[in-house]
Amino acid sequence: MYIRPPQWIQRLFPSIIWTMPESNHVYLTFDDGPTPGVTEWIVDCLAEYDAHATFFCLGKNAEQHPHLFRMIGEAGHRIGNHTYSHQKGWGMSLERYIEDVDFANDILHTDLFRAPYGRITPAQARRLSERYHMILWDILSRDYSQWVTPRQCLHNVTRHVQGGSIVVFHDSVKAFRNLRYALPRTLQYIKDQGLICSSIDNL
Ligand SMILES: [Zn+2]
Repeated sequence: MYIRPPQWIQRLFPSIIWTMPESNHVYLTFDDGPTPGVTEWIVDCLAEYDAHATFFCLGKNAEQHPHLFRMIGEAGHRIGNHTYSHQKGWGMSLERYIEDVDFANDILHTDLFRAPYGRITPAQARRLSERYHMILWDILSRDYSQWVTPRQCLHNVTRHVQGGSIVVFHDSVKAFRNLRYALPRTLQYIKDQGLICSSIDNL
């Protein structure tokens, strides 16, 4: 798995945003939540560093944990749609995929979308881009991987991060082992570089 998506993949999907314009802003994102025990910790950690972020939520998780979902918004973070049930676009019909995304959006109410696993067909991407800003990333922390140590996870981010970067972490139980170590240190590193963590906005 790539930490940074190769250029040829980026060119294949012109409707997808992989990175933001260069500036002194960095865009941290958290996928797959909200998750009890993890979301609260992330929100507190971000607040400690005066950082804002974007949470690509699953419709089913937001539905199950409405108080956590509200907490994200109330803390000033931005919500993105990550489908209702974490669907892989490849091998799924256009109609069924769109239906799952729209079903999630009845709960999430957002114009940002991120495809689970980054796996989406060009036709699905085209159709969704009529209604959503399509966001992927330029830095994958790989926090979810059992083969990645907390220090490696931190290093995956800090050695690549720069103004305009979109960084992926996960708001999930699986990623928490690495996230606990890597997130506060990433926030400190970004601050030391004179960069600001912001939510994805003004597209
Ligand atoms: Zn995901």
